[in-house]
Amino acid sequence: MPAAPQPEILAAFEAAKGFMPLDEGLALHDAAVTAGRLGLPLLEVGTYCGRSTILLADAARAAGVSALTVDHHRGSEEQQPGWDYHDPETVDPEVGLMDTLPTFRRTLFKAGLEEHVVALVGRSPRIAAVWNSPLGFVFVDGGHTDEHATADYEGWAPHVAEGGLLVIHDVFPHPEDEFTGQAPYRVYLRALGSGAFTEVSATGSLRVLRRTGAGI
Ligand code: SAH
Ligand code: MG
Repeated sequence: MPAAPQPEILAAFEAAKGFMPLDEGLALHDAAVTAGRLGLPLLEVGTYCGRSTILLADAARAAGVSALTVDHHRGSEEQQPGWDYHDPETVDPEVGLMDTLPTFRRTLFKAGLEEHVVALVGRSPRIAAVWNSPLGFVFVDGGHTDEHATADYEGWAPHVAEGGLLVIHDVFPHPEDEFTGQAPYRVYLRALGSGAFTEVSATGSLRVLRRTGAGI
């Protein structure tokens, strides 16, 4: 059985704003601990307020690697004012736009995990365009439009090292279960269809794939 996170890590996770239920969080943590053994950085697309980042940071600490987390911190389409997933506390009153960076920093500070995390603030494709080193783990939990989800896959999946893990959140095979669209499901199918990834586990809407082949 995988080592579950320590109680203080779980408490910090539960206290953080975000969109990850506990069962999926435990599966994410387990995957990150496993991938951490490769000794390569762990990367997340979609930081928001740092809820899932806590789990990656804990795994990174155990492995002696860094957790990298990518977000422009202006929120996804469905998190904007007037939409279902909007939280008014995430709006910066001075500029009138969402800014989840301050909350993210508080989340990590309170969890005692700042040391293990590198925040990359910007658009995922722009950061991917200048990225050129192998990753042991990529967690795709960013924008849910086809444009964003596809760009995240194309930008980051090629950097997953052989034996490393690609984890995709919000995979809903049945349209009636979808909340924010089926783009992550289409990306998941594409990853499996590429021949480069093999499914390891499924927990709720979280899918863990292992890189077992070359071409993507
Ligand atoms: N992993 C988080 C939830 C992420 S929500 C948790 O566990 O709670 C999705 C995040 O993706 C939002 O914060 C949004 O700002 C970010 N995002 C969406 N599209 C993006 C893009 N193209 N580049 C960078 N960040 C993006
Ligand atoms: Mg998600």
